[in-house]
Amino acid sequence: MRTKTVDVLVAGGGTAGVIAGLAAARNGAKTVIVDKQRCLGGQFTAGMQGAWVGFSDKKHRIVGGIAWELRNIFKERNAIVEVDPETDVCFLYDTEVAKVILDEITSREPNLECFLDTSIVDVIQDGDTVTGLVVLSQSELMEIRAKVVIDSTGDALVAYKAGAQYEMREKKDIQPMTLMGRMCGIDMDRVKRYYEENPPVLDTHVPPAWHDFKTFPGFMHFGLADELKNVQLPPEKEYLRNWLGIFTSTPNPGEVTINCSGAIEAHSTEGFESRAAQENFSQKCLYDVAEAFKQYVPGFENAYLSAIAALLGVRESRRIIGDYKVTLDDFNTAREFEDTIGRGAMPAGAHTPDGVTMYVYDLEPGQSMTIPYRCMLPKGKDGILVAGRCVSYEAPVANCIRCMPQCMVMGEAAGTAAAIAVADGVTVRNVNISKLQQNLEEHNVIL
Ligand SMILES: Cc1cc2nc3c(=O)[nH]c(=O)nc-3n(C[C@H](O)[C@H](O)[C@H](O)COP(=O)(O)OP(=O)(O)OC[C@H]3O[C@@H](n4cnc5c(N)ncnc54)[C@H](O)[C@@H]3O)c2cc1C
Repeated sequence: MRTKTVDVLVAGGGTAGVIAGLAAARNGAKTVIVDKQRCLGGQFTAGMQGAWVGFSDKKHRIVGGIAWELRNIFKERNAIVEVDPETDVCFLYDTEVAKVILDEITSREPNLECFLDTSIVDVIQDGDTVTGLVVLSQSELMEIRAKVVIDSTGDALVAYKAGAQYEMREKKDIQPMTLMGRMCGIDMDRVKRYYEENPPVLDTHVPPAWHDFKTFPGFMHFGLADELKNVQLPPEKEYLRNWLGIFTSTPNPGEVTINCSGAIEAHSTEGFESRAAQENFSQKCLYDVAEAFKQYVPGFENAYLSAIAALLGVRESRRIIGDYKVTLDDFNTAREFEDTIGRGAMPAGAHTPDGVTMYVYDLEPGQSMTIPYRCMLPKGKDGILVAGRCVSYEAPVANCIRCMPQCMVMGEAAGTAAAIAVADGVTVRNVNISKLQQNLEEHNVIL
């Protein structure tokens, strides 16, 4: 087996991981990112999310750092929709351009190597300290040893395999998975006129906190309930009436991204038959929804499903038990943690498992919650930091902390902390928090 030794090994180069890799490398650590997709970015790119939600508290921008650097690059390329960048909650970006941008900025870092199409097979430990990973690229195995491993797999896969404590809600309670897709060939003016004349009855599906998305740029619509009210549907398509779906415009003319919640009682961490069923079901939902748009929404007559995401959208799976678990009360009271590494302000809460609605807890405009460094440290384990949607928090905090800007913020903090730990010869648990915060602020992170 080939072997390699680095300072920082990033497991999963997705939304959080790619930023973690950049931050570690820019801070002088020899870094490798491994990801099983063919591109960097995870849900941000291959998952085809397209709506980057969580940049402001509706009054001020609360996210800076590398996430903001990316926003500026999208702007230069005309690959983003925005209204007022300093207060927009969300940016709609081109997920394909995003793939190229991530390649460009990672390849500029001399300390950073990215192994794509590479799967994590096993975790190497010395007692309770994670010291590396075994990874598989094509038919070749490699053992990569590292001083710090960052688990940004979305599923806390490394922490789980290392035997760290975690929690995961039961299948009946977990948020639904959703396969994203894209439609082209839409007459947007006609669609807009249609919705102006027939305002959607949002309140049946969407919680009030989301109605008032004045800062949501572009065009956004929820569900098909109104259009299907008087339509007879075959039994297998009845679910379309209750579909909590969203479509958002993209930076490209006549194109929308479809976020189509299909409900299936499964854990995304299950493989083989279960995974196959999840993939098949969510793809069928996406196709049904696209066909229904064509049939029932004026302006979509000549539209077509132009792309299906390469990566199934997983909202929720394992969450580690960290040195600190962020609580709903922390969110509701907009708590200021001393070890803050960044902020989030999107309504907390979750999609209900049936995919029909959402429950939310909202903050006042101008308020935000801080994210503590300790929620990225798996209890009882050393040599490992976790970043992204699988950090430690109570389930109802999910919809705030799992947003892409917040995952990026955690990635930047994890990468920076890992590099500091390596440089100072300390464990990630013993990183000097003031030094970490000073470094982040010097890199325009908003604490
Ligand atoms: C349907 C849906 C809609 C959403 N809508 C929005 C939205 O509108 N706005 C918003 O901001 N957020 C949204 N989110 C949330 C957001 O997209 C995710 O929470 C966030 O992107 C997760 O980032 P992450 O880095 O934790 O995981 P990911 O971005 O998924 O990255 C994990 C990476 O790890 C890699 N990986 C996993 N296992 C292995 C392995 N064994 N070997 C190698 N690599 C591995 C994966 O390939 C992936 O690239 C949505 C999520 C979903 C599912």
